[in-house]
Formats: sequence, C-alpha cells, structure tokens
Amino acid sequence: MIDRIVDSLQTFATQFRDLLSNFDPITDILDILLVAFIIYCVFMQLRKSQSIQVIKGFILLAVIYIIATVIGLKTTSYIFSNMFGNFILFLFIIFNYEIRQTLENAGKGGFSGRVLFSSNNDNEITDCINAVCRACAKMSDTKTGSLIIFQRESLLGDLLKQSVPIDSVTTYEMLCGIFYPNTPLHDGAIVIKDGRIVAARCIVPLKNDYEINAHVGTRHRAALNVSINFDAVAVVTSEETGMISVAVDGQMRRGLSDAELRELLNSLLLKNDTPKKRFFANFRRGDKKNG
Ligand code: ATP
Ligand code: MG
Repeated sequence: MIDRIVDSLQTFATQFRDLLSNFDPITDILDILLVAFIIYCVFMQLRKSQSIQVIKGFILLAVIYIIATVIGLKTTSYIFSNMFGNFILFLFIIFNYEIRQTLENAGKGGFSGRVLFSSNNDNEITDCINAVCRACAKMSDTKTGSLIIFQRESLLGDLLKQSVPIDSVTTYEMLCGIFYPNTPLHDGAIVIKDGRIVAARCIVPLKNDYEINAHVGTRHRAALNVSINFDAVAVVTSEETGMISVAVDGQMRRGLSDAELRELLNSLLLKNDTPKKRFFANFRRGDKKNG
C-alpha cells in the first residue's frame, strides 16, 4: 500500500513538473482567472440554497474516491470512476432548476457586470417595500396572518418548487388580497424577488430546526428557517397578536412598528442604502434584546 501511495505521489509530481514546463503566463493565467470567476459565480448562486448540501455530498464522494484509488480498493474505485464519468450529466439533472434560473438572470441582465446576479432596481424595491409596509400595518390591525419572503441574491430553487407561481407587481391591494383569510392563496408564504411577487402558497421546510425556540408557532418558525437555510429576509404578521416580526440570518426581531419595519427593510434590501451598515448593526443589537 505504501508503494502505491509513493507511486501516486511520483506520478503527481511528474505531471505537475510537465504542467509548469508548459506554462504560458498570459493564456494560462487568463484561463485560471476565467475558471475561478465561473466557480465563484456558481458558488454565489448556490450559497445558502439547499443545493450546497448536494455539493458537500459530492465533495465527500470525491474524497472517498481519491482515497479508494490511492490505497487500491478496486471495486470501490471502479464504481466511483463510472459515476464521475457521468458527473456533468448528474450536475445538469440535479441543478436543472438553478441552471435555468441563472441563464434567465443572465439573459435579463445582459452581459453587464450584473450577469448572474439579480438585476434589481432600487426604485422598484422601494415601491415594493412601501407596499409591504402598508399591507403589514393593515394586516397587523386586522390580525391577519402573513409570511412574506424576500429573496436576496441567491436563488431559492427548492423552496419555489412547492408553491403557486405568480408574476405580479407588489402592491398593497395584491398583498391584502393574497392573505385575505380563507382565499385559495392565503396559506403559506409569498416570495418576492426583485420587487415582484413570484410565488404564493409557498411551504417552507421545517427540518433540523431543533435550535429554534419551541414556543414559537409554525409561521414564525418558517420565517426563521427560511432566513437560516436561504439567502432571504422574512416578514411575519401574527394572526394571534397582530405583531410584525422580521427574520434574517436566523435572528428574529419582533414587535416592529411601521417605521421600524420600513427602516429595516430598506437597510436589508436596498443596494444603495447608505446607512445600511448602521441599521444592520442596530438590528443585530436589537436581536439580543428581543431574543
Ligand atoms: P400566528 O402568530 O400568526 O398564529 P404562529 O407562528 O403561531 O403564527 P401558526 O399559528 O401555527 O403559527 O400558523 C399557522 C399558519 O402559518 C398556517 O396556516 C400557514 O399559513 C402558515 N405556515 C405554517 N407552517 C408554514 C410553513 N412551513 N411554511 C409557510 N407557511 C407556514
Ligand atoms: Mg399561532
């Protein structure tokens, strides 16, 4: 076995030496930078989406394959080499939704610096935040339960699979209409992307949330879950208390006034909001107080 490891290291050293001797500083550096950029973009898209768990699984399998090959486990390495032979096909099947969304975004954003990232416009987002704040104030008064999820930069692929697709401007009337009790779309969450409502009746998976306070009801747990597992901000109005809460990065701030909600959403969602960092810092401090 030691011989096999030494052999593998020697082969690697020889291949590395060959690679260095053929190194062309301009094309090879360009090549490396391009690949690094593509990998970076892909990871930005997958960040915080559940797809990252699949990637971790693949990395684990790759490590097992390398170890099996180096120490000479023939059957294991035979199975794995066949599997990795179809690696690209696997990726296309598993990530077909994410790939489609990424290409759609690239198409919408054109080939500008924003390719692969959401192409949002602060004016549309501001109108959307105004509508959400007005609707939440109304739903808080009437004790109407609601859960509004704002998608940030990464995709929410798995989440949207279990929802009713919509494509609508976010308006006060639309929000109140969707969450009006006993209407077909009132249950579950809505998802807002780039200022538009893209889905309703969305059910957030409540798995592995043992650390979330057991006294919190399922709507609030769904908000916390989505803020932990996805790149999202969730706004809840409580049917029981009328209280408005916001969850971000697994932290929830409860009992927000209309003005506080507006300030918070501006700081979390607007790209060009200058006091963003200050508000975010306040939000963090507020969490500790509010539990
Ligand atoms: P409230 O303060 O409004 O009563 P809560 O946190 O106590 O909220 P529940 O009383 O259990 O939660 O609220 C149930 C409602 O929450 C459901 O009717 C549904 O609309 C929504 N909800 C529950 N679970 C989910 C989920 N996983 N994803 C999205 N929405 C959910
Ligand atoms: Mg309840």
